[in-house]
Amino acid sequence: MTVPLPRRDLATPALIVDRAALTRNIAAMAAFAEAQGVALRPHAKTHKSGEIARRQIAAGAAGICCAKLAEAEALAADGVANIHLTSPVVTPAAIERLAALSRRIALSVVIDHPDNARAIGAAAGGLTVFIDVDPGSHRTGVTSAAAAVALARAIAATGTLVLGGVQFYCGSHQHIQSLAERRAAIVERTDYLRGVLDALGDAGFAVPIVTGGGTGTFAIDASLGLFTELQVGSYIFLDREYVDCELAGPRFEPALFVDATVVSANTPGMVTIDAGLKAFATDAGVPVVLAGAPDGSGYAFTGDEHGALRGDGLPQLGARVSLMPPHCDPTVNLYDRYFVLDGGMIVDSWPVTARGCSS
Ligand code: PLP
Ligand code: MN
Repeated sequence: MTVPLPRRDLATPALIVDRAALTRNIAAMAAFAEAQGVALRPHAKTHKSGEIARRQIAAGAAGICCAKLAEAEALAADGVANIHLTSPVVTPAAIERLAALSRRIALSVVIDHPDNARAIGAAAGGLTVFIDVDPGSHRTGVTSAAAAVALARAIAATGTLVLGGVQFYCGSHQHIQSLAERRAAIVERTDYLRGVLDALGDAGFAVPIVTGGGTGTFAIDASLGLFTELQVGSYIFLDREYVDCELAGPRFEPALFVDATVVSANTPGMVTIDAGLKAFATDAGVPVVLAGAPDGSGYAFTGDEHGALRGDGLPQLGARVSLMPPHCDPTVNLYDRYFVLDGGMIVDSWPVTARGCSS
């Protein structure tokens, strides 16, 4: 692709990142973290991009988080040198890869079971590990203060692992739409976390870092004073699901779009665009039309490759529309590259470096 290229000349569907909005989002979160005196370790599961990770680190982030080992391997190969893995790594083959990666970059990983501590301790001496504490959703993590202390003892008993701290990520709380309800739920969960940290302290374990939080809760987390590091991911792009939430803290702007083309316009009150189930993640409702069709034009998934827009004054055959994805992270994973928008022109393209790296 030769850049610059007018936006409307891109083949669609195309994943677009607005460079100015992205830059402002990165700066706003970096300034917030600095003002609050907390470290920032943005979650790269959202963007899977070496280019964007480097921009976050240049703006002051301590490093990044990755959800999966393959994601971390891909971003490390692209030059990202400080990664925390937020999901447990348990099979012998994966632990070998973990050990190999830890020889190349500054790496840490969560653990939630003493057996896993022993396995990683035997294969990856010197690695920094975090006790993953289940906030009640039962995705991963130890489920009581006593289990956290038992795990800390198992980590110490390896004689090879370093306890970096505790991870606490309240996933199901991030999208509670009402800020007051979200805050009340997080205050209650933070009291629980305080009990876990107190138990670890009473048992003689130092907890240097408390890492966690997401775009829905980071401002609440920072105000409650327990977290030393924020793992925010989606703030970088926002998405329809987060735009629907009453967020606290700095204001972020939508920075991620899917551009599409009207490919059929034969039915009154409806047109078909070339963006369907393969163009957007489908777990969080429908995308919102931002440009190219009247406000309030409703989108519906109609097939693998197609979606319908319904309403009045719809665009004509061949016209372009731009939509905000319902859920950014799994939408990004559907594309090979971002097209970088600046001043109405596509000025660059960045690979989705870790696309599909889920193993
Ligand atoms: N930390 C962990 C462990 C996560 O799983 C996620 C997202 O799922 C995040 C942080 C980032 O959350 P958000 O995208 O809501 O900012
Ligand atoms: Mn998400």
